[in-house]
Amino acid sequence: MEIGPLIGRVDKENLVMSGEMQTVLDAILSEKARAEDYASLPTPKTMRAVTTHKDEVKKFEGLASSEKDPRRSLHVDEVPIPEPGPNEALVAVMASSINFNTVWTSIFEPLPTFQFLERHAKRSPWDKRHDLPYHIIGSDGSGVILRTGPGVTLFKPGDEVTIHCNYVDLQSPEGHDDSMLDPDQRIWGFETNFGGLAEITLVRANQLMPKPPHLTWEEAASMPLVNSTAYRMLVSHNAVQIKQGDIVLIWGAVGGLGGFALQYVLNAGAFPICVVSSEERAKLCRTVGARWVIDRKAEGYRFWNPDGTQNLADVRRFGKRIRELTDGEDPDVVYEHPGRETFAASVFVARPGGKIVTCASTTGYMHEYDNRYLWMNKKRIIGSHFANYREAWEANRLVCKRAIHPLLSEAYPLEQTGEAAYRVHRNMAFGKIGVLCLAPREGLGVRDPEGRQRHIGQINLYRNAAKGEFRLVKTQP
Ligand code: NDP
Repeated sequence: MEIGPLIGRVDKENLVMSGEMQTVLDAILSEKARAEDYASLPTPKTMRAVTTHKDEVKKFEGLASSEKDPRRSLHVDEVPIPEPGPNEALVAVMASSINFNTVWTSIFEPLPTFQFLERHAKRSPWDKRHDLPYHIIGSDGSGVILRTGPGVTLFKPGDEVTIHCNYVDLQSPEGHDDSMLDPDQRIWGFETNFGGLAEITLVRANQLMPKPPHLTWEEAASMPLVNSTAYRMLVSHNAVQIKQGDIVLIWGAVGGLGGFALQYVLNAGAFPICVVSSEERAKLCRTVGARWVIDRKAEGYRFWNPDGTQNLADVRRFGKRIRELTDGEDPDVVYEHPGRETFAASVFVARPGGKIVTCASTTGYMHEYDNRYLWMNKKRIIGSHFANYREAWEANRLVCKRAIHPLLSEAYPLEQTGEAAYRVHRNMAFGKIGVLCLAPREGLGVRDPEGRQRHIGQINLYRNAAKGEFRLVKTQP
C-alpha cells in the first residue's frame, strides 16, 4: 500500500512513454481489446502526472490572486501508480479537463490542497496513500478501465468511461439520502490524490459512468464536473428544479458552469437572461438560442465603490436593464457563482419569492448584501455543491442521449496543462479547455459516428466560436 516518492521531473527530452504504458495505449487505440485482453496486460509501474509540490505552497506569498501563475506551480512528473483497493479502479486516462479547482489548487487558494490530503489520509490505512509530498490533480476524466479492485461489480476492465468527481463510500448514515451530505464526501483530484490529469487515475467504482459514444475522449472528459454541478443546481430536487416559463439569470453564461446552465434552461422551456463580458460571448449566447443577453463590460456595471460600499445606483440600473429585456419581469432564479462582486446584485434582482442558487465565490467568498431585499421579499438562497452519483449519472445520460452538448473550445497536451490553467484563470477561453493525457491527438474515441454527425453543429459550436464562426444547425436528439 505504500506509495514511493516522486521519481522525476518530465521535461521535453524525457517525454517518451514507458513500454508498458505504450502497450496499454495500443490496446485502447486498437479498439478491439476485450476485458480478458486488458486483464493480461501488465500494469505500468509509473506514469506521467500533473502535480503540485508540497514544498512550494508558499511560492506565491504576497502576490494578488490574479498575479499567481499556474504555469509556475503545475509540474509534469513521473510518479508511481497505486494499486486499486476495495471498490476502486485504475483507469487509463485518455483525456481530462481544466476546471476552476485546477486553478485554485495551482495558486494554493483559498487553502493549499495538501491540508485536504492530510485530513483524508487519517480516515483509514487505504486513504493514507493519498498523503504525499505531491498532489496529482484533476477532477474530470475519460478513458478505459484497466484494473478493478475487490468488490467492483458494475464495471470491468475494458469499459470506456467518464469519471465524475464525487468521491464517497457512504459508510455514514448522513449520506444515504444524498451522498453530497456524507461527512466524508470529497472532490476527487482536489481533496484526494491520484486525480485525472495523469496517464492513469485511481477512482472509486461509484465515480464511473458510461462514456458518451458519439464524443471524442477530450469532449467526453470536459463535461462531468460542470455538467453535473449545473444539473443539480437547476434540475435536481436537491436545489431549484426549474420549470417551464421560469426566468433564469445566468452569470458567466458561456463559462463552464454557465454554458451547461444555458442548455438546461433552454431544454426546460424556461427563459435565460445571459450575462457575459464581450460581444463575442453575447453572440455565442444568441447562437445557442438565448434572446436576452447582457454584456456586463460594455454596460459598465460597478456594484461596489472603491471604498467597499455598495453602488446601489448600478445595482438598480442592472435590475432596470433586466426588466427592459423581459417586459418588466424579474428572475425567478439567479444562477450564482462569481460571489462577492455579484451576490448583492443577485439578491436584489431576484423576484419576490425567487431563488438564488449558489455553488461558488470566484471573486471572493465573504459576501455582503442588503438582507432587507431578501427577507421582506421572501427570497431564498440555496447552497449547492457538485452532485451525487444519481445526479451525475442523469447529467451524463442526457449527454449520451445527445440532449446536452459539450462546450469544448480548445485542447492542450498534458505537458501544457499549466498554460491551459493559466487561460482559465485569466478568463480567456470560451466554455471548457480539454487536456490530452494518453490520447496522442484530438478527435479519437468516437464509437457512434452517425449520432455524432447528426449533432456536429452543436458539438463543435464552442470550437467554431473560438475561431470567430457563429453558426448553429440544431437537431432533435
Ligand atoms: P469559468 O471560468 O469557466 O466561468 C466563469 C465565468 O464567470 C466566466 O466565464 C465569466 O464570464 C464569469 N465571471 C468571472 N468573473 C466575473 C465577475 N467579476 N462578474 C461576473 N461574472 C464573472 O468557471 P466555471 O464556470 O467552471 O466555475 C465558476 C466557479 O464555480 C469557480 O469558482 C469554480 O471553482 C466554481 N465551481 C464550483 C463547483 C461546485 O461544485 N461547488 C463546481 C464547478 C465550479 P464573463 O466574463 O463572460 O461574464
